[in-house]
Amino acid sequence: MKIREAREASAFLARSRRDFLRSAAGATLGSAFLPSPWARAAVSAPKRKVVVVTFGGGARDQETFAPEGQENLPHLMRELIPQSTFFTQVVNRGILGHYVATASLATGVYETINNFASLPPQSPTVFEYFRKDLKRPSSDAWVVAPSNGFNRIGESSHRSYGQGLGARVILPKHLLSAAVPGRSSDYQHLLRDNYETPFYAPELEGNEFELQQLETILKLSVDDFKSHAQTLSSPDELSLYIVRQLMRQVAPSLLWVTMHDIDIAHAGAYSLYIEGIRRTDRLCSDLWKTIQSEPEYAGKTTLFILPDFGRDSDDDAGGNGFQHHRTGDVLSRTTWMLVAGPGIREGVVFDRATESTDLVPTLGSMLGFTPSFAQGKPIRELL
Ligand SMILES: [Zn+2]
Repeated sequence: MKIREAREASAFLARSRRDFLRSAAGATLGSAFLPSPWARAAVSAPKRKVVVVTFGGGARDQETFAPEGQENLPHLMRELIPQSTFFTQVVNRGILGHYVATASLATGVYETINNFASLPPQSPTVFEYFRKDLKRPSSDAWVVAPSNGFNRIGESSHRSYGQGLGARVILPKHLLSAAVPGRSSDYQHLLRDNYETPFYAPELEGNEFELQQLETILKLSVDDFKSHAQTLSSPDELSLYIVRQLMRQVAPSLLWVTMHDIDIAHAGAYSLYIEGIRRTDRLCSDLWKTIQSEPEYAGKTTLFILPDFGRDSDDDAGGNGFQHHRTGDVLSRTTWMLVAGPGIREGVVFDRATESTDLVPTLGSMLGFTPSFAQGKPIRELL
């Protein structure tokens, strides 16, 4: 598809998504010419917190925002979108692998690192800009990531940043497998690490979260962690459990949570894919409620929810329906973003084109750091 045709198809998708939200979630069409409410927000910059959630794995509109898909997103449609500014056209022009795409979101640069290797991002991450420019301690930037393959996401190999300036990374599955040596069958459904081939799970070293820190940082005993984990149904539920502990015990100002349950679609079972979407919808709502109820976060936290990328459409013969994201078609590249919090307009939808790389510059403008190497631009409707 030619570039102009792809742009038109992406804009068409964004407009239909916008119309679904206007009719079903009551969102109104935003005007970029309104004065910024953010400037009037009562929260001063040093106290602001940001939580970024990647709505991971990739889902198509027909299972989410289209009329026939809305039943899978009751929390987004009824609770979150009416309280949010929503962008219906966030285009990812990078590589559609989960690790490399998440790294691109976190650097504001389309990263080209091997998706299936244990490598750090090449450009500085949002965590490094945040910590270096604002002189924040390592306890103030954290990542909770779904797969052992994400163990290097917190810190780049860039020579002006990197070493010691990144985020601390918790891999809940790694923590659980350390807590249950021998891989008890009770936990297999929580430990499945990757839904794609080649299967990749690196031997971990370096920046990963060590088991003894379960008690010292999260204030969780190994026994409590194990018994609570037995009540959970998926890796993303395990991640949210860890996120809540982290918010209560450490309260980082910049918290990045990567979800991944939806990617079970690669296994080819449509019902599991739908279950993943519904669970992710519920977990996003649970996280928003936690933000409202935790004193360290309530009233001063901006929540960003966006997918790393989408999923192939049905009409592309190479895509095999809902199962993969390998054709790079318009539906798999045209994603969305939801932003909520103090100073953010509520129930407003924008359909102009933004890019995945605009996230980091937007966070920079909000929090007061300068992402010098990022390619994107701050999203003016949020500032
Ligand atoms: Zn995938």
